[in-house]
Amino acid sequence: MSTPTTLTIPTVTLNNGIEMPTLGFGVYAVSPEETERVVTDALAAGYRHLDTASAYENEAAVGRAIAASGIPRDELFVTTKLWISDAGEEPARRAFGRSLERLGLDRLDLYLIHQPYGDYYGSWRAMEKLYAEGATRAIGVSNFHPDRLVDLDDQNEITPAVDQVETHPFFQRTVDHQVMAERGVQHESWGPLGQGRSDLFTDPVLTGIAASHEKTVAQVVLRWLLQRDIVVIPKSARPERMRENLDVFDFALTDEEMARITTLDTGASTAFDHRDPAGVAFLGNVRFDT
Ligand code: NAD
Repeated sequence: MSTPTTLTIPTVTLNNGIEMPTLGFGVYAVSPEETERVVTDALAAGYRHLDTASAYENEAAVGRAIAASGIPRDELFVTTKLWISDAGEEPARRAFGRSLERLGLDRLDLYLIHQPYGDYYGSWRAMEKLYAEGATRAIGVSNFHPDRLVDLDDQNEITPAVDQVETHPFFQRTVDHQVMAERGVQHESWGPLGQGRSDLFTDPVLTGIAASHEKTVAQVVLRWLLQRDIVVIPKSARPERMRENLDVFDFALTDEEMARITTLDTGASTAFDHRDPAGVAFLGNVRFDT
């Protein structure tokens, strides 16, 4: 294994005072067999923020890579998520314990409600207690549209530290971002690269801006998100792309370039519509052996 680099990634301070690296590494749809190698390579490339979920079924492999890396625990920021079939106060507490055990950790940095379905108010109560006990340094949500985020925030003790939602040039989430900013919730993008969509990588606005900075489209998109104060967690199984996706702190987009990218927004998901009844029914029936 190559020696981990000492690259310093900027952090953002969450609403409870803890620091979160603004650029992390996601492992969605990385098979359990491949995950240990991929995460080992990502840590060697310099990533210190990892994003997994019980639903990805690769937490144990993430944990093995963390343990083998020898990187001090306090230099890592680890997020995992609670799946719908574990929603509710007691099930959520049990699921948290199983995730922690699989990851081989004694505390988490960020625990998210993966989807706004099922008894997620019960889940939130369990998570507030886990947070108060110090079992996780922050708690938050994912895939919450502004209405659900506002209601959860108003009806509970703790404001979510983060809302992780699909965000990329074709789905920019401007209103969501505004609501999060007003309430002190950190916006985190999933699918920052449009999940590898070819029309993103060939878009003329993005390729034009990339050429003028001698950067790639992936780097321009990640930079655009970071300049909007959005945390990013791109995924790649390839070490050269892992390094490419980290190399975004030596250039800046102009206001005019930021504005040109704004014009690409379609206002719609390119992955999954969280308000589509058929989609909600589908997800609610997906069960994992967590
Ligand atoms: P992504 O936008 O990060 O795209 C990943 C794909 O983009 C790769 O598989 C590869 O095909 C391509 N790619 C990556 N780097 C590239 C580069 N430099 N040049 C060209 N192509 C490149 O998609 P994602 O993995 O779905 O999202 C990132 C992370 O967000 C996930 O791994 C996961 O941790 C998280 N996520 C969360 C949710 C949720 O519901 N909360 C949903 C999806 C993803």
